[in-house]
Amino acid sequence: METTMKPVMFVATVLLGIPTLASAQTVPVALTHIRIIDGTGAPPVEDGTVVMQDGVIVATGKNVALPAHAKIMDRSGKTVLPGLISDHSHIGQLKGVVTGPQFYTVDNILPELAQYRRYGVTTVTALGNNVPHVFDPMRKDAHMGLLPTDLFGVDQGIGVPRGAPPVNVAPDQLFRPRTPEDARKNVDTMAEEGTDLVKIWVDDFDHSLPVKMDPAIIAAVVDEAHKKHLRVAAHIHDLDDAEHVVAAGVDILAHGVRDKPVPSSLVQTLKERGIWYIPTLQLDEATTVWAEQPTWVKTPFVVAGLSAPLLQQINNPTWQRNNSNGAKADFARTSLAMNLQNLQTLWKAGVKVGFGTDSGATPLRVPGVAEHRELALMVRAGIPPLSALQIATQSAAELLGLQDRGVIVAGKRADLLVVAGNPAVTMADADQVVETWANGNAVSGPVPVQEPRSAP
Ligand SMILES: [Zn+2]
Repeated sequence: METTMKPVMFVATVLLGIPTLASAQTVPVALTHIRIIDGTGAPPVEDGTVVMQDGVIVATGKNVALPAHAKIMDRSGKTVLPGLISDHSHIGQLKGVVTGPQFYTVDNILPELAQYRRYGVTTVTALGNNVPHVFDPMRKDAHMGLLPTDLFGVDQGIGVPRGAPPVNVAPDQLFRPRTPEDARKNVDTMAEEGTDLVKIWVDDFDHSLPVKMDPAIIAAVVDEAHKKHLRVAAHIHDLDDAEHVVAAGVDILAHGVRDKPVPSSLVQTLKERGIWYIPTLQLDEATTVWAEQPTWVKTPFVVAGLSAPLLQQINNPTWQRNNSNGAKADFARTSLAMNLQNLQTLWKAGVKVGFGTDSGATPLRVPGVAEHRELALMVRAGIPPLSALQIATQSAAELLGLQDRGVIVAGKRADLLVVAGNPAVTMADADQVVETWANGNAVSGPVPVQEPRSAP
């Protein structure tokens, strides 16, 4: 089932400048007898058919006429949903349990993208700390269908001298401007690189850093980005910082508010201005959960996404003790609880919610696994499964301004996730990954699902 990528062929395609999506099938493929969750929040279509050809959905729904010579794949008992879209991830930050700038390489990033795809994530947004001379060509190849997933993101992003983000990255991966003038130049550089969004890290990471971002720099970044028709996403944790960046004109809150309940004034502003809110619930869960070892951590579905060094680390009793107790663990648990509460408030009020986890930023935020946990946590926050799936597909595409994906509709990209069972009822069924179709190419899921026994 796995469609292996052929780098040599890709290079040739790029050199020839052929502007077509790579290796999509020319024979129509029909997934039949399948439940369709189309990503719009509409109730599932039972016993439906989805037909794709040349990387695009050509027909979907009930009583779809099958094209002549279609390859028919009976998917009885399965559900198809749009491929998941991450609005907040990172690539090339780490390998195993080690982070560092040496890992920002094509060879390291390709397997990360392949892992996202095996877990059904077909579009990845790398929200900062990217090395432009590696990231920009990869992003172009991804748009041409040459990489395991499509790829968007912030090129470097804008942090604070001696401040946020406290990450081990090379100077070319992040700007830390000292003056508003420098900040404007940094935005201009990112615009020239073709960045999809601008990112700012404004806070002091729970008082662990000596400074926050200078308000004059925040203002300059927002103004310059908007002049260049770029939207600004802000890293925040606390309500104060969220209110400040919103007042300064940012377009996307890249994390949930995690210290206090969101007041109705902020809810109203987010709604009125159409500001996106990406809760990243899993981020704080990831801080403690690998040490706490609930049963889901040990499922084959999850273990399939863990590197050998990570698996060894999380099974170490000393590591488990150190990471499930103490101030850092308590802070993460309190943050998650407040994040869940605020998400419920904001979602009920109709604020636009995006889908992201900060996966790939640290070893504990595991690509693909994190996105499936985010789905489960959204349900824990009181969001019905169909709406949570809508956030992870249609809304996530809308946040990125992508109109060619995120829903199962004729004419959209054939980026699909096929799972066993019915995640509209039981979100955990979204973890029963059968296959991902990315740009019309099928790749089997992290855990092969047993075919049902033939009927008696
Ligand atoms: Zn991030």
